[in-house]
Order: sequence, then C-alpha cells, then structure tokens
Amino acid sequence: MAQHKALPLGCIADDFTGATDLAGMLVRAGMRTVQMIGVPQAPLPPGIDAVVIALKSRTTPAEDAVAESLAALQWLQQAGCRQFYFKYCSTFDSTDRGNIGPVTDALMTALDTRFTIACPAFPENKRTIFKGHLFVGDVLLSDSGMRHHPLTPMTDANLVRVLQRQTRRKVGLISQEVVGAGAPAIKAHIEQLRGEGVEIAIVDAISNEDLMQIGSACADMPLVTAGSGLALGLPQNFRAQGLLGAPSAADVLPAVAGQRAVISGSCSVATNAQVAHAIDAGMPAFAIDPLRLAAGEDMVHAALTWATPLLAAGPVLVYATANPASVEATQARIGAARAGALVEQALSAIARGLVERGVRQLLVAGGETSGAVVTALNVKGLRIGPQIDPGVPWTASLGDQPLALALKSGNFGAVDFFTKAWSVLR
Ligand code: ADP
Repeated sequence: MAQHKALPLGCIADDFTGATDLAGMLVRAGMRTVQMIGVPQAPLPPGIDAVVIALKSRTTPAEDAVAESLAALQWLQQAGCRQFYFKYCSTFDSTDRGNIGPVTDALMTALDTRFTIACPAFPENKRTIFKGHLFVGDVLLSDSGMRHHPLTPMTDANLVRVLQRQTRRKVGLISQEVVGAGAPAIKAHIEQLRGEGVEIAIVDAISNEDLMQIGSACADMPLVTAGSGLALGLPQNFRAQGLLGAPSAADVLPAVAGQRAVISGSCSVATNAQVAHAIDAGMPAFAIDPLRLAAGEDMVHAALTWATPLLAAGPVLVYATANPASVEATQARIGAARAGALVEQALSAIARGLVERGVRQLLVAGGETSGAVVTALNVKGLRIGPQIDPGVPWTASLGDQPLALALKSGNFGAVDFFTKAWSVLR
C-alpha cells in the first residue's frame, strides 16, 4: 500500500480502552492504526492511516481534560491530520460538569468550527440512540447497570439534556427519521439546525447503516465527536478522496509468546459475569479488597506470591471486580475516589510484577484500570490487531519486546471473554 504524507484521521480518546476500541474499528474498516498512550513524545511509525491518542481524561477535573485534549489536538495537527475525532464511551460516561461538553467546546474553539455532532451509538454493542435517548440493550441508559457506575453514574438517558448541562453551546437533535432518509437529508438538517443556533447535535442511530449515512454526511466536518461506532462510517470518505489504498491486512501483529494473566478492575455488569464465568471454568483467581488496601495490607505482595507458582499452568485472574452492593459499601466507608485510586494502584503494581515474572499476554478489564496498567508498564503505543469481541482487539505494545495486551472497556465482551480471548492470539 502506498505511503501517504497526510494522515487522514487524528483521534483523541478520553480513556484507554475506548481508544483501543476505536482503533480496532478503524482497523476493521481497513485503516492501519496506531494507538499512542498520552500525547506522543516520539514520531509515528511509518505506514499509518489513523492515529488514536489515548488520554485518561474521562473523570479528571474538566480543566485538566481540556488542557490535555488541546495538547493532543495540537500534536495531531502537526502530524498532518485532516479530520479530528473526539471519542468517548458509547454509554456517554460523564458527570454533569463534564468532561464531554467542556472538551468538545475547547476543540471546536481551537479548530474554529461552529458545528459538530455527538453520537455515542454503537448498535453492534447494543448502544442505540432514538429521539435523543440512549438505550443499552432493551433498556434506557438510566435503567441500565450504568446507573451504578463507581465514577460516572448515568441516571438520565436523554442525551440532549445530559450534554446541555455540560456546555454553553446550544445542543440539538438529528432524529432517526432524518438519519434514515440518508446523508443528504442529514446535511440539510444540519444546515437547518445551524440556522437555529445549534452548535452540537446529538444524532440518533439504531443500525450500522445509520452510522454509514452519518459518516458520509460528516465528510467535510473538521471535528466529529462520537463513540467508536461512527468509525465504521468515516473510512469510506477517505477512500473516496483517494487518501487510502485498498483494504489490506491491517490487523497483523508480531507473535508474542509467554505466560498469561487477567487483571480486572471493572465493576460493570458484564465484567462481574465474566469474572464469575472464568472462576467457574477453573481459572485460579485472587480477589483484591479495597478495604484491606485502605487498612494498609500489602495485597500486591500477596497476589504476586499467590500467582507465581500458578503461571506456568495457564492464565491467572486478579480482580477487584465486585457487585454494586459491595462497591457501595466500600465507597461509604472510604469514598469512591480513594477506593478507585487504591484499587488502580494495586492492580497496576500487580500487572508490573506479573510481567516481571514472565507474563507476556495480558487481559485488562476496565477503562480506568487499563489506563493505570499501561502507564505502570510504561507502554507508549500499541499496534492494533484482530478483534476478540466487538470493541476489544488484541494489541501489541510498540518497542523491541512487545507485550500482547487486550484492554477491555467494562461493559464489553461476551461472558466467556476471559477464557476464549487467548485463542484469537496466534
Ligand atoms: P469500567 O470500564 O467498567 O468503567 P473502570 O476501570 O473504568 O471500569 O472503573 C472502575 C473503577 O472502580 C476503577 O477506578 C476501579 O479502581 C474501581 N473499583 C474496582 N473495584 C472496586 C471495588 N471493589 N470497590 C470500589 N471501587 C472499585
């Protein structure tokens, strides 16, 4: 495939697993993609069509999220990117203060653009938007497990309302009737909304075809904001513009042999089920209790001592994953932020210890947890490989001694994710 000087697409993701999810979608659509951890210090490897910068800005103070996102944008602009994509979670994870609204505002100002869309829909993963309301499977977002999220509980499914609380720009809606009528209708509606002073539009989407039409309508938009689903709809534009070669084997990874482990810090409904399934299937498992961490117990040492003799026999699981009642009880005792930080610190130290003991294939569950783990492992970038389940590809760390890493956003993956993922890695 020919090398292209200009990079078609530069993306800023607000957490690590979200970045991997997006990068995986772009690879599926035939774009050779690298995910960089934080604003890159080094130049990109050659032969790349898209770069995704993974930040850890979903739950940081809004000012910090804005500053980091602007630094990422500047780097992407200097790298020659033509279009920019702010990626957040398909469940629109945010608090009333942000950070989706403030970051969108800042990126729009920096790019001097007066209109963008906001579309977290990912129908393949059962995230659909209808009349501005986000559904997770068959239930409204506010009735889903997301209402119990430890850091960003989502209790309102009306995304126009949610986003309007986070921005001074006027938020509008492009409804499914319009989206279903196709890209020209979407473009016409955008002009109408602009005339009404709307600067950010939530966009309904209930199918991949909707995302293709939305993507086509956004071909000339400097900035899009979305979940990873919209990545299905953008590559067609770059291909039509002659910026991409023919789709190739964009997902080939270097072979990585070594021992295996799972680190799980997500408390989502899906991850709780995956942990239970792995334990039922006989995977050796070690539980990390935040209250024992808070009491000063050295659970890192205990977990590593436990794991060391087991590693040769197959994957081990170290988890802080707990059900909503247990998370609530812990948070009532020591606070949500302290519990989260203690768990993230412990799990990332355990991940580092496991790698020192020969683990080369590592699954991590949880967005924040993955961010903490890759930072602790000093990973600078990831080449994106084959998909395990929608939204979760295997990746290989950049550098001389690659690690195979699968970074799973909490709600993603089938129930047997922790046991089946290894067979995808050949
Ligand atoms: P997800 O992708 O499901 O949102 P994250 O890793 O992003 O998962 O967020 C989960 C948060 O919950 C992390 O900060 C993690 O440290 C914290 N956490 C994990 N286990 C517990 C627990 N047992 N009690 C309280 N908080 C926990």
